[in-house]
Amino acid sequence: MTNDELWQAVLGEIELSISRANFITWFKNTSIVSSDNGVIIIGVPNGFAKEWLENKYNTYIIKALRSFNQDVKEIKCIINISNSQDFGLNKVKNVDAVKGPLISRNYAQNITKEGKFYSQPDQIGKENNLNNRYQFENFIVGENNELARAACYAVSQNLGKAYNPLFIYGGVGLGKTHLLQSIGNEIIKKDPKKRVLYITAERFAGELVDSIKNQKVSQFKDYYQNIDLLIIDDVQFLSGKEKTQHEFFHIFNALYQLNKQIVLSSDRLPKAIPTLEERLRSRFEGGMIADVGAPDLETRMAILRSKSAEKDISLEDAVIRFIAENVKNNIRELEGALNKVIACSELEGKNPSPEIARKALSEFISSGKRKGVHAQYIIEIVANFYNISIPEIIEKGRRKEVALARQVAMYLIRNELNASYPSVGEKFGGRDHTTALHAHEKISRELENDEKLKETIIAIKEKIYSV
Ligand code: ADP
Ligand code: MG
Repeated sequence: MTNDELWQAVLGEIELSISRANFITWFKNTSIVSSDNGVIIIGVPNGFAKEWLENKYNTYIIKALRSFNQDVKEIKCIINISNSQDFGLNKVKNVDAVKGPLISRNYAQNITKEGKFYSQPDQIGKENNLNNRYQFENFIVGENNELARAACYAVSQNLGKAYNPLFIYGGVGLGKTHLLQSIGNEIIKKDPKKRVLYITAERFAGELVDSIKNQKVSQFKDYYQNIDLLIIDDVQFLSGKEKTQHEFFHIFNALYQLNKQIVLSSDRLPKAIPTLEERLRSRFEGGMIADVGAPDLETRMAILRSKSAEKDISLEDAVIRFIAENVKNNIRELEGALNKVIACSELEGKNPSPEIARKALSEFISSGKRKGVHAQYIIEIVANFYNISIPEIIEKGRRKEVALARQVAMYLIRNELNASYPSVGEKFGGRDHTTALHAHEKISRELENDEKLKETIIAIKEKIYSV
């Protein structure tokens, strides 16, 4: 059961035990953000919901969760900042939860009675971790990903011989995992006996640590050395993990010498991954490197058409264009926006139109852009707030306070103006896009627990929009 399915099922239970008004008030727009070691983190829209869910509904929720998963120990709530750019599918699916017990229960059971626009649940291979949703056939090719797609396809047709290793890099939500998994699925389709393994670098590191703890390192290595196609996603995670890098290097060499295929992805070039062992870096660079960039308008529209066709929904071009024009940086967000528009149309019982799209996406469409706010203006206000000079925030300052102010400014420019990471970096003395990405991630993470920072952001936003 995925987290989403679990949460839909839990909502179905809770709905039966509390009043409808309470259910809608407190459980609307909630989702499971993560579950780890029996601790379930629930994303909620505001502090009131957090308070109520943690204190008043705690036992209901835990009881319902345990009826599906006995390992659940406790729940915690975090606030999903309302203005965030996250169009997570969760929020959309949960529109269902407030429509009535029938539909949410149906969804939990995957009966797509009304919600035929929710595609079939993903099937993930137990042995190889391949998700059958990711195929070359449903990957839309644009200028931004042409080369990466061609390289991946070539590898799938000529395992171990075309490019080895193949290294795909690019920003979040631009299709790296989709491409990597497509290679695996293609191989399995042609020859189910081929040993394919898809694994994130994070999990790889975790398994290695376990094998060391259990004194099973040699089994661990043997297992990996028998794989025909090894796909490791998000290798930037190996940064700073010396022991893991060391073991990975040996596995890598063994596979390479046997002409086995290795495919890797990262959010940046090998040379930009800090503390990557030199010999590993040169190995990564020794094969083929291809990037995926942000899709242009045409490609975004083509992706939306393909995704809506998958859901068996036909959308007017004006609606497709509206969504594509407003969600630019990330294909995962684009899909989330599409789902939201479809769900809102269903809820209103009307065909999707540009008006509905505008309404459905209003809270996400960067409010700054609507009001004519510019990046420079945000930088000035943030600098003012922290009482530092503009040159200091833009370029030089390394003091802790200055660094924080810079990160806050980057975070706000990204969120309020829907700016791409490279363009955010550009505004700060031509810094790299990864700096902007990390600033955004860091502030987003800290906002989950840091009340003071939360207040700061609210105050700065008030100031930005007070004109
Ligand atoms: P990344 O691994 O780069 O963060 P993903 O591969 O997870 O990004 O892509 C995010 C979502 O966008 C996935 O649902 C994926 O199927 C979809 N997606 C990305 N690129 C394309 C594309 N070119 N055509 C169709 N869907 C895409
Ligand atoms: Mg990925």
